Amino acid sequence: MIEAPYPWLQRQWRMLINVASQGSLHHASLIAGMPGLGKLELATAFSRALLCERFPEGAPCDTCNRCVLTRRGTHPDLMLLDWIDKATVISVEQIRKLTEKLSLTATYGPYRIAVINKAHSMTTAAANSLLKTLEEPGAGSVIMLIADREAELPATVRSRCQRIVVPTPEKDVALDWLKGQKLSDCEMALDFAQGAPLLARSHIGNLDLARIAAIRSGWVDFVLKDGSPTELAGLTASALSTRVSLTLFLQWTTELIKKLEFSVASGRLTSERHTIDRRYLSQAHIVLQDRMRLDNASLKTQAVLEGALADIRMYRLRIRAENPQ
Ligand SMILES: [Zn+2]
Repeated sequence: MIEAPYPWLQRQWRMLINVASQGSLHHASLIAGMPGLGKLELATAFSRALLCERFPEGAPCDTCNRCVLTRRGTHPDLMLLDWIDKATVISVEQIRKLTEKLSLTATYGPYRIAVINKAHSMTTAAANSLLKTLEEPGAGSVIMLIADREAELPATVRSRCQRIVVPTPEKDVALDWLKGQKLSDCEMALDFAQGAPLLARSHIGNLDLARIAAIRSGWVDFVLKDGSPTELAGLTASALSTRVSLTLFLQWTTELIKKLEFSVASGRLTSERHTIDRRYLSQAHIVLQDRMRLDNASLKTQAVLEGALADIRMYRLRIRAENPQ
């Protein structure tokens, strides 16, 4: 049987299957949520269910001839669009070819399905080209857009789709799943992945999480107490790589500082004991966000990091001067 690809996608899965069983499936869906939640797998599994010859009278079987074709990726009525080679956009040519194919009559069942991965990266021309099909879909056309950053899609495209949101799963659900994969450091990886289980799994395989966590603690210590900006920036720069970009590291550190800010605001961390001030933490937070925008090849990583640390120190000194204890 074809089922929800991951335990945290049960609700979305049941909703899609119910709607399709009742014959009221919208011709276009937008599956939105952060990366690492299995949105593409959800769309693919659902497409396979729609194309199964036993569905919707029975449950999608995973064994009939059509299911075998979709599993092999050779079913003529299922099209998947994604980045080609080193491209980082979905181009208008790709969309044109897709909509042409979509307009043909289905080979087997009633549906012809197009899944567009990373739809948020469609060029303006690509989005405009897709719009015509979204406005006047052919009979049996089903279009599923997958977007990590749905706000980047034109409103005209979004408004023509049924929106399906995939939220970050409950921590317990994500941890159970990761542990079920026989992985270690699950909690730390999930923290770095901001709760996205598939991203956490990839972090576990690809990153030296303990080292990055130690460096991140170094940043929090610097924010709360002080330290050597040069030393800390050097240590950080040496740990960054193509896998952990400066932007990603600053994002992780920003998240941690945001949590500290929240702890101070909610009284769980008292400013007397830690000599920190909420205004100072929010400044540190802003400094890091500003630096993230600067992340590009023309700037040396070490210089960006040292700059951020120097700014944070300056704000700390200023706030202390304003509030002598
Ligand atoms: Zn089947």
